[in-house]
Amino acid sequence: MLAGSTKLLDSLIATTGSSITPVSPFPGHKIESVPESSVDDVKVAVAQARAASANWAATDIEDRIKIFDRYYDLLFKNQDLLQDVIQIETGKARSHAAAEIYGVAMIAAHYTKIAKKALSPQKRVGIFPVLTKTEVLAQPKGVVGIISPWNYPLTLSIYDAIPAMLAGNTVVIRPDFQTAWSAIHAVDLLIQAGLPKGVATIVIGDGPTVGAALIDEVDYICFTGSTATGKKVGAQAGARLIGASLELGGKNPMVVRADANLNTFLESAIQGCFTSAGQLCISIERMFIHESIYDEFLAALVNRVNEIKLGADLSWNYEVGSLGSEAVASRVEKAVATAISEGAVALTGGKRRPDIGPYVFEPTVLTGVTKDMKIYREEVFGPVVYVLPFKDDEEAIALANDSEYGLSASVISKDLTKAQEVAARIRSGSVNVNDGFAAAFGSVAAPMGGMGESGLGRRHGIEGLMRFTEPQTIAVHPTFITGPRFGMNEQKWNSLISRAFRILKKLGLR
Ligand code: NAD
Repeated sequence: MLAGSTKLLDSLIATTGSSITPVSPFPGHKIESVPESSVDDVKVAVAQARAASANWAATDIEDRIKIFDRYYDLLFKNQDLLQDVIQIETGKARSHAAAEIYGVAMIAAHYTKIAKKALSPQKRVGIFPVLTKTEVLAQPKGVVGIISPWNYPLTLSIYDAIPAMLAGNTVVIRPDFQTAWSAIHAVDLLIQAGLPKGVATIVIGDGPTVGAALIDEVDYICFTGSTATGKKVGAQAGARLIGASLELGGKNPMVVRADANLNTFLESAIQGCFTSAGQLCISIERMFIHESIYDEFLAALVNRVNEIKLGADLSWNYEVGSLGSEAVASRVEKAVATAISEGAVALTGGKRRPDIGPYVFEPTVLTGVTKDMKIYREEVFGPVVYVLPFKDDEEAIALANDSEYGLSASVISKDLTKAQEVAARIRSGSVNVNDGFAAAFGSVAAPMGGMGESGLGRRHGIEGLMRFTEPQTIAVHPTFITGPRFGMNEQKWNSLISRAFRILKKLGLR
């Protein structure tokens, strides 16, 4: 049972008097009702955030950093509680819930380390080198809205908010109602770490009303969810000319080269395909194995998948947990049934396991998938992967790139040079060599995001911080010097300027 105390709800603005009661995917567990916000509550939340903006932006960066340093420690002090909340809301395995905490901690550590330098004024060459003192300030956008889905409820509700706040913005978070308590706990820990009132608030409600109302009010929107919804969010943000980062879907490929190590392949495949029961944007759903090792590697994969320990409780005993809801379970079931009706073959899995939990779906390996099948291109967002053979690197790259998406990819090979060459030719925001997804995703100093239909903008790295700022150029002259001076007429002045242009280029100053 997840309980909400008055203190926990301090950050939530919800005055409708109505509430939503999510259903836990775990048998025998209940989730406390979540108070629901109205469109007016969204306006109040953003007004409060705006009121808190000036003080927060003026707070010394060192003091802002200290709050997130304390937050890092609080995450680990509260690890058991957070794991329980995440698991009860999402149904995922405990180790996958733990990974969410590590993800947020890595982001807090990374940005507290780089924020001061990255956000400090940057000197640039001015119109008249030496004479013109030009610098760029990183001004906060103002109020940042975060709309996050249910699949990684702790990570995705808070870890974009951390760089946004470090950059001097206030944030209003609209988590998915199914996983609202994860977000409420995440913000409660921030308040415990010393975050001033109003800097982070939460609103709860459905996407098309409460989510859309948030986009109408904020100065920047950070959205994580499906490509279909992302396009609506982008259009709404575009109509208001506010910036948006859109972290969307994927149909991520794994290329297994002829020289791949079998164990590296198996562990990368299990992690890549079945973490969080495949409800992960960077999950592998397409696997291409070199024809010379295809039979051997496929048989080993099926054996390993058959050994996966499936479970739906709070223990550490299981490798893969449940899907998040009836809606997800029936969508995954339908995607697999359609593929099979179109001629695909399930070598293992392919069915629900109500004996374990109401939404548990077996890890599934499909073969015989062809280009005309729905599953060839469409994201399943569940524990389902299809496997196809390829002849050479050229064909593997063509198969990997045969997708509208471009979020994450994986190349398994002993030849690291060749693997890197293949990686660079895959149209994907991240590529992992000899890993499913964690190598790139966990490299939080490097940008992460999608090409093509997988999104716009990048989280992680300096890019993930600077998107929350407006670069402001301040150029200072001791006195007016950009027009005729020293009694010269236009002709003399321009002849001096054109000579100066040539000299400056020769000196490497322009
Ligand atoms: P979804 O697009 O259906 O919903 C995402 C969130 O958007 C939900 O909380 C929903 O309430 C809200 N929403 C719906 N309509 C809205 C609107 N008009 N305006 C504002 N908000 C609205 O996606 P989902 O099924 O909940 O999540 C799974 C999808 O998210 C998958 O496609 C997955 O790949 C993607 N995802 C991407 C990333 C990434 O980093 N790229 C991470 C996690 C999930």
